Amino acid sequence: MRILVISDIHANLTALESVLGVVGPVDATWCLGDVVGYGPDPNECIKTLQDLPNLTCLLGNHDAAALGQIDLNAFNREARASAQWTQEVLNFNSKQFLSSLPEKQEVSGVTLVHGSPRNPVWEYMLDSMTAELNFRSMTTHLCFVGHTHLPVAFYYYANSHPRVTWQLLRENESPVLNVRAFLNPGSVGQPRDHDPRASFAIFDSEAQTWQNYRVSYDISAVQERIRRSGLPLHHANRLAEGW
Ligand code: ZN
Repeated sequence: MRILVISDIHANLTALESVLGVVGPVDATWCLGDVVGYGPDPNECIKTLQDLPNLTCLLGNHDAAALGQIDLNAFNREARASAQWTQEVLNFNSKQFLSSLPEKQEVSGVTLVHGSPRNPVWEYMLDSMTAELNFRSMTTHLCFVGHTHLPVAFYYYANSHPRVTWQLLRENESPVLNVRAFLNPGSVGQPRDHDPRASFAIFDSEAQTWQNYRVSYDISAVQERIRRSGLPLHHANRLAEGW
């Protein structure tokens, strides 16, 4: 199966449509959470996702916040303002969709979570130490994560001296998957590796290959919608710089 792996769309419909426009035919789409939050198009992004065949979507912390499931004081001031705005504009269909999302799911032998296996909604997989602790609670060979908005891989080498290494996954880069690994496709709607282009990956479940891709989109159009909707300007400005 050729599987589109995406994460952290963050209500950025223009970025999502750009990804879908270049990806070609896929057998399934796996979305690793944070469909909403920060951006101006939460209902439109959910509707677009729902129309994709064989979608598996996980719950992210911003999705949980939009449903009122978590205390908004866990967010900084601007993220809180965007969560409150999202709560107000979500329609019935969107709330139902977000309410149905699992925190953790195993599909085709791969574990899918937003954050990490041991803390699926909240933990950031940002360093080798965190990855090593999570490899211990991982039951599959591969686990796909989002949440950090960084396209990155962590590998576990179980020799006599087990060790974890990591690699930033640049465009068209294919990690070697003969060891256990955490793989992050980066963020569609708010990349944070100083490359503003939308980030995604293609996973081939038979060949066990993964490839990262980037695609440009009309950032100024999204910035304009953020401004018009009254969302924090900070979330418009950062899109152009990719952080
Ligand atoms: Zn996110």
